[in-house]
Amino acid sequence: MSPIVGLKLHTPVPHKPIGRSIHMKTELNKVPGPESAVLMDLASIRRLTLGDFGRDMTPAEFRHIFEVCDALWLHSGDPKAPHAELTSGRCSNGFVDVLRVLRYSNLCEIMAGQLVRQLRKHYDGNVDWVIGSDHAGATLSFAVAAQLKAQHDFTEKGEGKTQTWKRFAIQPSEIVLQVEDLITTTGTLQAVREGVRSGNPNPMSFAPLSLTLVHRSPTYEFEGAPIVYVAHYDIESWDPKDCPLCAGGSERLRPKQNWARLVAAMRT
Ligand SMILES: [Zn+2]
Repeated sequence: MSPIVGLKLHTPVPHKPIGRSIHMKTELNKVPGPESAVLMDLASIRRLTLGDFGRDMTPAEFRHIFEVCDALWLHSGDPKAPHAELTSGRCSNGFVDVLRVLRYSNLCEIMAGQLVRQLRKHYDGNVDWVIGSDHAGATLSFAVAAQLKAQHDFTEKGEGKTQTWKRFAIQPSEIVLQVEDLITTTGTLQAVREGVRSGNPNPMSFAPLSLTLVHRSPTYEFEGAPIVYVAHYDIESWDPKDCPLCAGGSERLRPKQNWARLVAAMRT
């Protein structure tokens, strides 16, 4: 039997079988344990709520949700299986598009809840602002801010790879938490921080950590503070001339156009 977990956020079912309690019991019965969540299809996943995850999501659950949302592909290790051609032209043994998960607003809220759980393991101080980058970082950082009852805005794309902040002045006493959906390099973290610093008239006070949902970087610190994440994946990329998968005869495919073929190769 699957253990029923994550019930703490629900009101206990009253003994009297009045109409409302029957409804609540139905809600309780659908709360997934880690073993059942990994079997859910997309329709079931889209019915999950924040209250279903009053616990840390397991790595298997996290990966399953991402895979069902077509948001994650990892090479199987079979040298003949196809691999990914990134927009940059580089080859890779993995592909992550967090926005494909965050577009489902219930999953955005659930993933924000997982970030808050990680945050509180490392930092129990005030958070006055939660900020993120344009684009996927904007919705996710909003969802985190909502759970922390913090203020929120996101930086907007500027020229080149810059991020600009121009709508609010943050007070020097206010603690700012930076949240990203994905960290591959720390380039976006740096661009947001530079944008918010140059767009504010006051000196900034940042929380002593940065948060990301998916970490696929070799770097675990930013400006001397830890990068705290929910999931880490070792994903490598290579210039095609140095790619061991190309050298081994694996076909390289653009993920968006060849998603079904990549996924089929992952599951065999
Ligand atoms: Zn290659």
